[in-house]
Amino acid sequence: MELIILGSGGCTMIPRAACSCKVCKEARRKGLPYSRSGAALFVKDINALVDTPEEVFSQLNRENILKVRHIFYTHWHPDHTLGMRVVEQISTDWLRKYLKLKPDKPKVKVYALKEVMNDLQAIKNKFGSYFLHYETIGAIETKTITENKELTLGNINVIPVPVLEGPGRSSTVFVFKEGNKKVIYAPCDLRPFPETNLLLKNSDVLILGGAIPDGALKKGYVVPENNVLRKEQFSFSEIIKLIKKLKAKRTILTHLEEEWGKSYTDYLKLEKKYARYNISFAFDGMRIKL
Ligand SMILES: [Zn+2]
Ligand SMILES: [Zn+2]
Repeated sequence: MELIILGSGGCTMIPRAACSCKVCKEARRKGLPYSRSGAALFVKDINALVDTPEEVFSQLNRENILKVRHIFYTHWHPDHTLGMRVVEQISTDWLRKYLKLKPDKPKVKVYALKEVMNDLQAIKNKFGSYFLHYETIGAIETKTITENKELTLGNINVIPVPVLEGPGRSSTVFVFKEGNKKVIYAPCDLRPFPETNLLLKNSDVLILGGAIPDGALKKGYVVPENNVLRKEQFSFSEIIKLIKKLKAKRTILTHLEEEWGKSYTDYLKLEKKYARYNISFAFDGMRIKL
């Protein structure tokens, strides 16, 4: 199995538009791996994307990915969906349509849990949902997937695990399995984390978002222990507890926000600090092979 971290940033990317902080300035000057675009993953074996942030167009070009057959969505939030227009570029050809020639590219299959699909279908204008538009022009085919149930694509089994948020399910953790190898991708909106779900145990690689580094963040801000953000994000000590509970062999933290005020070099230092827990930090273009 081979996976590519297309984007390791959060809902605030690095460099952030109109930001003159030192982390953003350095990223503008040095580019990758200092810059971070919106959170997305590519599963090479099955030509599958997980989520489409706005930068997905440039991420695919950057990695020279020439075939995308499947898109899995974790949840509806704009930082994971607003690049959905990429499906037009992957699957449609306006000239062929106007010349009345048959499409020569397959539709992209778009998968989400029922509740997430409902959220995605609710992204709309007065004529209907964006997804309906893309179905009508022949760019996509939507498929609702079942929680905790394997979907087999080629040599990979994909399992969506729902994350409860308030009264309804709204986010998803994806498990990718090949033989006895297991990778978990859980980038955003993860609490309460479904840590008792056995499908999430004993992974080879756990790719996890939503962790706030300890101490002072951008501009020296410190998030108090009783702040509501602490209920939405993990502290590093909570991450370590989770890794132990889930028995993950290796953990990669992603969805790294600009507002954490950390540069690529700062994360390398943190990596050394947390080496005994086998925690590392994602960067754009990171490859995971197992
Ligand atoms: Zn900045
Ligand atoms: Zn997010």
